[in-house]
Amino acid sequence: MSGFGTRAVHGAGEATSTAEAHVAPIFQTTAFTFPAAHEAIEAFGGSGYIYSRKANPTVRALERHIAALERAPVEVAEGTLQASEDADSRFFGSGMAAISAVILAMGAGGRVVCQSGIYGTTEAMVGRLDELGVRVDLAPVGDLEALGTAVARDMPPALVYIESPANPLLQLTDVRRAAQIAHEAGARLAVDATFATPALLRPLAWGADLVLHSTTKFMSGYGVVLGGVVSGAAEILTAKIDPLRQNFGGVADPFAAWMTGLGLRTLAVRMERHVANAEALARMLEDHPRVERVFYPDPGELPAGQLTSGGPMLSFEVAGGEQEALAVVDRLSLITLAPTLGTLDTLVQHPYTMSHSVLPEARRREMGIQPGILRVSVGLEDPGDLIEDLSRALS
Ligand code: PLP
Repeated sequence: MSGFGTRAVHGAGEATSTAEAHVAPIFQTTAFTFPAAHEAIEAFGGSGYIYSRKANPTVRALERHIAALERAPVEVAEGTLQASEDADSRFFGSGMAAISAVILAMGAGGRVVCQSGIYGTTEAMVGRLDELGVRVDLAPVGDLEALGTAVARDMPPALVYIESPANPLLQLTDVRRAAQIAHEAGARLAVDATFATPALLRPLAWGADLVLHSTTKFMSGYGVVLGGVVSGAAEILTAKIDPLRQNFGGVADPFAAWMTGLGLRTLAVRMERHVANAEALARMLEDHPRVERVFYPDPGELPAGQLTSGGPMLSFEVAGGEQEALAVVDRLSLITLAPTLGTLDTLVQHPYTMSHSVLPEARRREMGIQPGILRVSVGLEDPGDLIEDLSRALS
């Protein structure tokens, strides 16, 4: 028998098969073994599992799960809309890893038209792409005319990038019109739909080429695991996204994929409650004398059925500006201050000094991110308790 060192490394020869597990086990491994050299050579030439930066069964199971959600039919008055049957997904280590991969893969050496007034780190990232040879032109979020003008200006873009609903002021963009604008110019359309999740918005059915999510948020749902996903036609993913993901290395760990898959299983029921609570809070804030404005999406602005509700996020402007807004945060007791969103509990943050502080002050103001605005990610608590906490903090 082998010596201690060899035994320490090899263990007792535990079975590697997965038996008949009810819940899929985690393939927490960096690489896969081959019984013979010729099988390894075949795998390198084909599509088998070799190394987890390239592909891993647990990550792949999640990707297929998310693709099935993005392909779910959307019922509208004229019939059924649906992503193409071959739409697939690729999972990344964070939402930003997925977003930067899409923008670099599609835009390298060309031009990208991107909305401004969206998630602060996406804006900060695209602001640095000039250095990498990608020219980015901005168009204010929610303004399709400005998007069309930016697309038509100068050389045709390779990619049009939008966020709907937008972070933090919840502006909506009609995905169908944005896709027309992009396609008429020969560009692809990518949509960050993190605030909606596929439960409320399925951009591929409305003509988008790629849809992105930070799965860190509502899709995983518990606030314990970072992740990002891009979905779209398999040919775009294989030709453009796979080489970039594999070579730049922004992949996710199998455990993150497994945890995200657990969260996804409750997405539909969680979203129903997130949305019902957000609607109740938005109504209360609309009538509150210390609230200047409420930012809550009206799905009626979009073609019927595109966004099936106002969603789980809202923002509002407190009368009295920054000092008052921060005082409201400090007076909350149930609602928690945390710089994320999409968790089971209700969270608040102050975009001006927190999520969007990476942008210069003038830019924040130009985007409408005033110092009195608070953003709320509405959780699953009893709505009466949330209303009581927020009204007490406002008074
Ligand atoms: N997209 C949106 C709309 C976001 O709100 C965020 C993060 O808050 C991201 C992308 C980035 O995701 P991650 O933090 O997983 O990198």
